[in-house]
Amino acid sequence: MRKSGMFLILLLCMGYSACNIQPSGNSMPDRYYDYNGPKPKNIIIMIADGCGYAQIQAADFYSGSPQVYESWMVRYGMSTFPSGGSYLPAESWSDFNHVLSGPTDSAAAATAMSTGVKTTLGTIGQLGSRRLNHLMTAAQLEGYATGVVTSVQWSHATPAGFVAHNSSRKNYGAIALEMLESNMDVIIGCGHPLYDNDGNPVSSGSEEYQYVGGESAWNHLLDDSDGIYDQWTLVETTTAFQSIADGSVSAPERLLGIPRVYKTLQHERSGTSSVVNPGDNTTGDTFNGDVPALSLLAQAAIEVLDQNDSGFVLMIEGGAVDWAGHDNNSVRNIEEELSFNTTVEAVISWVEANSSWDETLLIVTADHESGYLTGSSVDTGSTGPWASVVDNGSGNLPGMDWHSSGHTNQLVPFFAKGIGAAQFSLYTDQADPQHGHYIDNTDIGLVVKDLMDN
Ligand SMILES: [Zn+2]
Repeated sequence: MRKSGMFLILLLCMGYSACNIQPSGNSMPDRYYDYNGPKPKNIIIMIADGCGYAQIQAADFYSGSPQVYESWMVRYGMSTFPSGGSYLPAESWSDFNHVLSGPTDSAAAATAMSTGVKTTLGTIGQLGSRRLNHLMTAAQLEGYATGVVTSVQWSHATPAGFVAHNSSRKNYGAIALEMLESNMDVIIGCGHPLYDNDGNPVSSGSEEYQYVGGESAWNHLLDDSDGIYDQWTLVETTTAFQSIADGSVSAPERLLGIPRVYKTLQHERSGTSSVVNPGDNTTGDTFNGDVPALSLLAQAAIEVLDQNDSGFVLMIEGGAVDWAGHDNNSVRNIEEELSFNTTVEAVISWVEANSSWDETLLIVTADHESGYLTGSSVDTGSTGPWASVVDNGSGNLPGMDWHSSGHTNQLVPFFAKGIGAAQFSLYTDQADPQHGHYIDNTDIGLVVKDLMDN
C-alpha cells in the first residue's frame, strides 16, 4: 500500500516538472499546469509600465480606434501585488480608496513576471538574500538569444528585474555592471552619461555615469580592444539603429544600445504644454532630435536576436507611461502610450512578415497602474467615483481625472497571441466583478519557463 502511494507521487512529479522546485512559503505558486505543446521559437513580452485599463482607453479615444491587441482571444486581468500582499476583488469595487493601498513597484513586479516568484518592494531578482531564477537565464540554457529594450534607463527597475539581482533597484551602478557581465545578447535603453534629457551634450564635468555602471565601465565600453566588455557593440545614433533595423548593415552579435539622451527617449524633454496637439506629439513640445523611437529600438533588437536559429526571448518596456502617470500629466501619458502602441504594431508586423503566430508568442501587458486614472465626473455628470475615461473624439484630450501620484493595486490588462498563449487560460482561476477572470503576474514567469523547456 505504502509502496504504490510512493509510486503515485513519483508519477505525479514526472508529469509536473514544478516538483523539482519545492514550494516553500506563500510566495511560491500553488498551481501549475504542465504544457505539452510545441515549443515556441520566439517569445516577446511587452510591458507598458504604469498602464491600467484607463490609460489604454485614453490613448484609444485620442487616436480614434482601439488597439488590435484588445481584441485578441487571450485577454484577461492580471493581479500585481508584491510578496505578502493580496488583491481583493469585491473590496476593490466597493471602496474607491481600497486599491490605493498595497500596490507593487516596477522592481517587485518585473521580478515576479521574470522569475515566477513575488518579492518585496524595490527588490530586483531576489527574495531576501535568495537569488531567483530569471526566465532570461532559463531561456539562455535552452539556446534562446535574449534581450531587453526600454524607453527609460536600461538599468532601471523593469529591465533590471528581468536580468539582475540586487537588494535595491536604486543601486544602478551595480545593476548595470551585472547586466553588462550577463549573457544577454541585447540591452537597449537610455541613461547616456554625456547627454541631457533634451538630447544635448552636457558640459564637461556634468557627466552622469551611474546608469551605465560608472565612468570606468563607460571607458571600457568605448575601448573595443582592452578585453573588458569588448563583447558588446555599442550603438548610439538613430542612423546606426536604423541601419541595423532595416538590414543595411549586418547586425552585431551582441548589441548594447544607448541613445544619446539621459533618462528617457522623450518624456523628460523640456516643454510644459498641457494643451493637446493632434498627432503622436500630443503636447507639441519639440521632440528630441537625434533620438530613435522605441519602435525602431525594438526592430533593431529583433534583427540582432533573430540571427539565432534557436529563436529568442525579448522584453520590451514602454517605461515612461508610468512617469507621466506619477506626474498626472494626461497629454504625455497618452503620448507615451501611443509610442508603446506603435511599437506593438511594429512587432506584430515583424511576426506576420518574418515569423508566424505558429512559432512566436507575443504578450502585451503592464506591471501596475500609476496615477489612479478614471474618467472626469465633470464630463460625465456621473456621481460615481469609477467613471470611465470620456471620449471627446480623436485628436482631442479625453475626459481624464487622476486620483494618486503613486501606484495602485488595481488589476492591469493582459493580452497574449500566438503559440502557447492559450496556456494562460489555465491560470485564470479568480474573477473580478469588473474585469472578469484574471491571472497573477507570477503566472507569466511560470508559463514562459514551462513553454521553453518542452
Ligand atoms: Zn512608478
